[in-house]
Amino acid sequence: MEEIKTSNFIEEIVEQDLKNGKYDTILTRFPPEPNGYLHMGHAASICLNFGVAEKFGGKTNLRFDDTNPVTEDTEYVESIQQDVQWLGFKWANVFYASDYFDTLYAYAIQLIKQGDAYVCDLTADEIAAQKGTPTEAGKNSPYRDRSVAENLELFTKMKEGAFKEGEKTLRAKINMSSSNMLMRDPLLYRIKFAHHHRTGDKWCIYPMYDFAHGQSDSIEKITHSICTLEFVPHREVYDWLIAKLGIYPSKQYEFARVNVNYTVMSKRKLLQLVNEQHVNGWDDPRMPTISGMRRRGITATAIRQFCEKAGIAKREKINEFSLLEFCTREDLNKISLRRMVVFNPVKVIITNLENELLLDIENNPEDENGGTRAVTFTKEIFIERDDFVETPQKKIFKMEVGKAIRLKGAFIVTCNEVMKDASGNVIEIHCTYHADSQSGKDTSGIKVQGTLHWVSAAYAIPVEIREYDRLFKVENPSDEEGDFKDYINENSLHVIPKAFAEPALQSATLEHHFQFLRKGYFYLDKDSTSSNIIFNKTVGLKDNWSK
Ligand code: ATP
Ligand code: MG
Repeated sequence: MEEIKTSNFIEEIVEQDLKNGKYDTILTRFPPEPNGYLHMGHAASICLNFGVAEKFGGKTNLRFDDTNPVTEDTEYVESIQQDVQWLGFKWANVFYASDYFDTLYAYAIQLIKQGDAYVCDLTADEIAAQKGTPTEAGKNSPYRDRSVAENLELFTKMKEGAFKEGEKTLRAKINMSSSNMLMRDPLLYRIKFAHHHRTGDKWCIYPMYDFAHGQSDSIEKITHSICTLEFVPHREVYDWLIAKLGIYPSKQYEFARVNVNYTVMSKRKLLQLVNEQHVNGWDDPRMPTISGMRRRGITATAIRQFCEKAGIAKREKINEFSLLEFCTREDLNKISLRRMVVFNPVKVIITNLENELLLDIENNPEDENGGTRAVTFTKEIFIERDDFVETPQKKIFKMEVGKAIRLKGAFIVTCNEVMKDASGNVIEIHCTYHADSQSGKDTSGIKVQGTLHWVSAAYAIPVEIREYDRLFKVENPSDEEGDFKDYINENSLHVIPKAFAEPALQSATLEHHFQFLRKGYFYLDKDSTSSNIIFNKTVGLKDNWSK
């Protein structure tokens, strides 16, 4: 096999397993529970699972871990598939844990027949009370020694709906004094009279995570089942069940969850933000969800780069949001079309311009095939109000009376006078342009410092701009005292209802990302219409956040 450069400890394990001939090829899976939209942490898991398989010529299944009928929904199934594809990965198969309900039921019968599982009548509270503590053994359930025949009969009745929820469970008969609390006769099945998004009302008993996950891995012949650190204690149960059933020996490996500061990353918490309308849906551009980031204009390339740089660790750490922004800028600088938008306009009259002039301005200096666009230079233009100053500052180049400055892609203009209203506000600025100073063919010899963006007052179109700040005021809202929602930043959305954009933006689509000169990177919002054009600010041009 040719040498492959490994970039984390999971890849090293896989490389060794292939070198040693333990496997000819590997199969991983990404196993989301369809109870919410995927977030940045899931993106890390997707990049790891699909990435390691891609690197070593293996395959990856997408498996919906849909064993809890109460919280799951097909809306989530669809969004998850869309997100994985958008990130640029292809699964070998889509499976559902619920496809295995019949097989899992048969496995349960096998365990009962082997004397490895029993039907227990204890309530959830009683089970908890008898479980013991990490230093103190638990108590055996009084139902632990039921005969195989009785267990078979009761389990069949559980399945047939003869008992109420909570009245009976199926438990593995392992060891009530194990030092691993999860090995103290874990629950395999519980009764739930709930409608399942795929199996409907066929079942009223549902397998627990521990009795579905490893078994599903085994049914699919997953070689490396990669999950996050909180599942370390589950590994013993995972191995025990596979050994007792004598099925394909999938193996579990754990890595640290990927966290990002100034946000939360649990679907349960994100659902609260959605339900309590702190944000406008799962794909609100402030959300750390893949769909939110996509809507904001963060690219799949940037997210994959972030995951690569954040790395796969054995211990938890918090990644900087600014690292994601850095990766985003790097990608957007390469691919964005440059456009001019004036957010807070003041009118400039080019007093010596008789007829409007058609200019050709390059779309992207970083891309030689980026082409150009037509921009019309007219007698009345807008510049940013704060790009005109009466008292100049050192090293900051703006328009001031008596001075010349360049207008991007157009001409050098000299500012001659300024009109004010009764309260002293600037209402109009008068300039003259230098006809021989056009960008790209400047023969004027005039030296200026500073270039301003501008739009034609006659042709500019109104657009709405949405700018976003961090969703939380503190770095790690989940670790603060009280409720994480107490730390929401109430000023995370800033709307500019009417900015003035060059007309080329009338035809903006979701296909392109834009750099608004001197303003940042922007992306069309999906709610935008031709009469109400909305842009989301993806990220600024510079990092103002990292310490
Ligand atoms: P949440 O707490 O957000 O609901 P979860 O772990 O319950 O997360 P699942 O849908 O069960 O979400 O996860 C699918 C896969 O994604 C699992 O393998 C899980 O370990 C992984 N995963 C979830 N969150 C993260 C994270 N923050 N970092 C890395 N991997 C994660
Ligand atoms: Mg989960």
